[in-house]
Amino acid sequence: MHRRQILLNLLVAGAALALPLGASATQIRNARLWRTEDKLRLVLDLSGPVQYKTFTLGAPDRLIIDISGARLTGDFSQLALANTLIKSIRSGHYGQGDDTRIVLDLTAPVQLNSFLLGPDGGQGHRLVLDLSNERHTVAQMAAASVPPLLHDKTHPKRDIMVVIDPGHGGKDPGAVGAKGEREKDVVLSIAQLLAKRIKREKGFDVRLVRNDDFFVPLRKRVDVAHKYNADIFISIHADAAPRLTASGASVYALSEGGATSATARFMAERENGADLLGAASLLNLKDKDPMLAGVILDMSMNATIAASLQLGNTILGSLADITTLHQKRVEQAGFAVLKSPDVPSILVETGFISNVRDSQRLVTARHQQAVAEGLFTGLQRYFQRNPPTNSYVEWQQTQKSGQV
Ligand SMILES: [Zn+2]
Repeated sequence: MHRRQILLNLLVAGAALALPLGASATQIRNARLWRTEDKLRLVLDLSGPVQYKTFTLGAPDRLIIDISGARLTGDFSQLALANTLIKSIRSGHYGQGDDTRIVLDLTAPVQLNSFLLGPDGGQGHRLVLDLSNERHTVAQMAAASVPPLLHDKTHPKRDIMVVIDPGHGGKDPGAVGAKGEREKDVVLSIAQLLAKRIKREKGFDVRLVRNDDFFVPLRKRVDVAHKYNADIFISIHADAAPRLTASGASVYALSEGGATSATARFMAERENGADLLGAASLLNLKDKDPMLAGVILDMSMNATIAASLQLGNTILGSLADITTLHQKRVEQAGFAVLKSPDVPSILVETGFISNVRDSQRLVTARHQQAVAEGLFTGLQRYFQRNPPTNSYVEWQQTQKSGQV
């Protein structure tokens, strides 16, 4: 049987068999069309997530899009198809229940890139179909040997650098739990698991301040962040709280003034110990007027602290899915290890080793993995909202948010 005949039969059979439309079916509400130099973008606005399949047919050229559990409520008659790769668009039910088949009649064979997008930036669920002329694309690829995506050739797409600082180490065990659980061991495990997770993600790179059990002065930890041009710095801890009953995770950022709570002040004093450092030396401001140096440092510090608070809040949000929170907002105090003038820096207390329940969980591989995942989810979310200039994540965001 001719392929066109099969398609026609499918459409007819589908229409005849279609069950009464359920109220739960996803709606294909609207279609929008854009043209750029090298592709045609068709966006279907949906009322919810869908599953879909696509395939092409030749003689005449067609692109078939089968969407399961979705019915068409919008129409395609308003789309300006003149002088595009699409001659006309037809649709109908097929299969059983609420499945919709959309057929694009084409003027030439196409290469298709399709993907689903979730709600974002005022838009709902979408199915995006990018069509490019196959012959044009093949010639282009042969000539340039790069995928024919917008900006792909020109964007530098650097990796985001995350520096992880497992607290304490070596002669400094950190806090010690009732059964001898040591903070320095727990935080090293969590940091290593987080580093492993980050390495798996395209667009991210990671360095650990220490990857073993040795002592690193606070000043040195800040220097590592600068050495690797960190985009963010995360110091991981599991300290003892002033009260044994205190439990749950908390996140701290730097404060240049006083501490936001007694616990925050206690933590900062405990962590800083005798190991104090002056942030001024990090900016090489020695040769400048001391007044001016102070102003530059303040401006840089204010912006960095604002970014640190935002990062901290996002991470608190993702940790809330994994563990109880000791503080529901990011606390601030004068932590020496967070004094990078230009690197957003946070200190995460993953729990209190002084609390029996916290320390029991913190030593298990399963909980350590969950905390590492929570930290990763938070920092990834932060960078999706605040992608650094020229980063792969920035490029990825522009690809998604372009005209969809
Ligand atoms: Zn600590």
